[in-house]
Amino acid sequence: MDYREEMKSLRDQLNTAGYQYYVLDAPVMQDYEYDRLLRRLEDLETEHPEEITPDSPTQRVGGQALESFTQVEHPVPLESLQDVFSQEEVEEFAQRMEESLTDIAYSVEPKVDGLSVALEYRDGVFVRGATRGDGRVGEDVTENLRTIRSIPMILPDKLPRLIVRGEVFMPKNVFHKLNKRREELGEPLFANPRNAAAGSLRQLDPKICAKRLLDIRVFNLQLAEGREFFTHSETIAYIASQGFQTIPHKVFSDAAGVNEEIVRLGENRDDLPFDMDGAVVKVNNLSDRAKVGSTAKCPRWAVAYKYPPEQKPSKVLDIVVQVGRTGVLTPKVVVQPVRLAGTTVTNATLHNQDFIVEKDIRIGDTVVLQKAGEIIPEVVEVLKELRPEGTVPYHLPEVCPVCGAPVARDPDGAAVRCTGAECPAQLHRNLTHFASRDAMDIDGVGPAVMLQLIDRGMVKNPADLYFLTVEELADLERMGKKSAQNAVKAIDASRGRGLERLLYALGIRQVGQKAGKVLAAHFRTFDALAAAAEEELTEIDDVGAVTAAYIREWIDNPQSQHLIGRLKEAGVAMEAAEQPGGEQFKGMTFVLTGALSRYTRDEAAALIERRGGKASSSVSKKTTYVVAGENAGSKLRKANDLGITVLTEDEFAAMLEEEKPKETAEEKAEQPQQYSLFSAPEAPNT
Ligand code: AMP
Repeated sequence: MDYREEMKSLRDQLNTAGYQYYVLDAPVMQDYEYDRLLRRLEDLETEHPEEITPDSPTQRVGGQALESFTQVEHPVPLESLQDVFSQEEVEEFAQRMEESLTDIAYSVEPKVDGLSVALEYRDGVFVRGATRGDGRVGEDVTENLRTIRSIPMILPDKLPRLIVRGEVFMPKNVFHKLNKRREELGEPLFANPRNAAAGSLRQLDPKICAKRLLDIRVFNLQLAEGREFFTHSETIAYIASQGFQTIPHKVFSDAAGVNEEIVRLGENRDDLPFDMDGAVVKVNNLSDRAKVGSTAKCPRWAVAYKYPPEQKPSKVLDIVVQVGRTGVLTPKVVVQPVRLAGTTVTNATLHNQDFIVEKDIRIGDTVVLQKAGEIIPEVVEVLKELRPEGTVPYHLPEVCPVCGAPVARDPDGAAVRCTGAECPAQLHRNLTHFASRDAMDIDGVGPAVMLQLIDRGMVKNPADLYFLTVEELADLERMGKKSAQNAVKAIDASRGRGLERLLYALGIRQVGQKAGKVLAAHFRTFDALAAAAEEELTEIDDVGAVTAAYIREWIDNPQSQHLIGRLKEAGVAMEAAEQPGGEQFKGMTFVLTGALSRYTRDEAAALIERRGGKASSSVSKKTTYVVAGENAGSKLRKANDLGITVLTEDEFAAMLEEEKPKETAEEKAEQPQQYSLFSAPEAPNT
């Protein structure tokens, strides 16, 4: 067979298999066979790139990441819907329609909770897809929409122009998997599938969107040049015949039938792959629609019925506390299992202590539950009249239920956190923070690797990282020998980062990069810091009473002491990397202004600080020198007004030359192999 014919035949087979799988949900081809044919097509396309066609299954995730989305005007506006909340309001809608129409047929269909998009085809080829935006102008998300496998790239009919409208959603099972994964990695969770779908469709890189496995249901024909239809049912049948997944609907002649169907849809909503946030009632006949027309935003011929959230009472069997990755203690009620909006609910979140106090929720109470955003059950109220005798108000425990360390309430919030430096619940977060760029800067041991290390019990605290071998790391999934070697090298190099970064890396509350530097400069070694009383800490500039208390509390915690012991054993430097500030600029304040040619602002500031001076950003009477580079502006003027000495960059450079502080420990550490994992490390502080 000629290669062109073979490519066409492969495309056809793959597209048919894709249609059966993604649209009809009735797979016919084995995954293995599909992959084999796809590989063959890819090979041929590499050999003959000029033969790649837009409908090739390889073109779904072709595009480059975009800088931004361009705007698209919708030729037919994407209207909104008027909401109704009761059966009476549905009847009123029907009465309104009967005032101007006769023999009305109503269609009833699920309202998919996703994002509206318009898909445009020219001569049967998918050319553009856009979000709804404000209904008139949306954003061009064509490349992302291509990744949705149930959107056909080529249609059997070659109408000059066809536009359909559908709702993009993230299937419920995909959403649950995605959130589970994000939770494992300590990433923020999506509140619901709708947010997850919206976030995915607005990714500038189609490769990310492709991974999110979005799907679509088409519910309207916006425009079909050269075809005429009379009813909604006809248009939907036509759309389905063109290879789209459509939203199914049923037709009724009166409000009673409509209301029955609404109830039925509500009862069966859990069987749907998407979240349903209502039922849409539409006049079925297109000429009837034209007769009643639209308001500025919504068609008059349709309404969206919104279901009330289902609520059920249940008994509180227990209140338990979970410790999240950030150490926050989250209480939840364990309730007598109850069926609610399609799932069996056994517990509900109580958010925090304030929530419990506000509602006065006690073990033994009967509470009313509902699902917020259809997913997470929550307590709406306590049925106080059903409260048994002898119940007591509930308080969160004073020690972490996972590791036993004391808990502390955030000074500026309702959250209560565990303070344990080795608390297993917080390990992943602590490890990723420890290894992060501004902390110990361990490259090549990212969040996913950390997760495996924890799961396999290889790492129980940050110090354990320093005892890992290449062989152990190479054994991890997606890790290979080379990356394991690099990871060990990176871990090794981080030993010499110095006390300032180590203090930040330890994740002591309120000790950020700046406090780490200030403390390291003041105490020079960890042991000197550990020996300081709280009052001594407060005396240091930039360390407030709250921070001082947190530092003391952290150091006194047995878990912290164990961790520090292990870090010392691992040969991690416990002294300041920065040399003690020279005395040259002691008591002097510099302000840098204009563009310097030899240093960046940060570098110049570091040079000043290393000599014991301060770099400030605003000129005042206290300023000793203003260093003025090219195009210095208002600060220079102010310096002149206040009579402050102004230095040129050359004069400043000359001052720096007068006295050079010694190289820093960090610079030393960059020399090869200070400590090695394979030779017994000589711990500097033991
Ligand atoms: P709202 O955004 O609350 O005004 O609801 C209107 C939106 O519901 C429309 O913009 C559509 O995106 C969406 N929708 C979901 N399913 C349907 C459906 N079956 N018929 C019409 N609109 C729908």
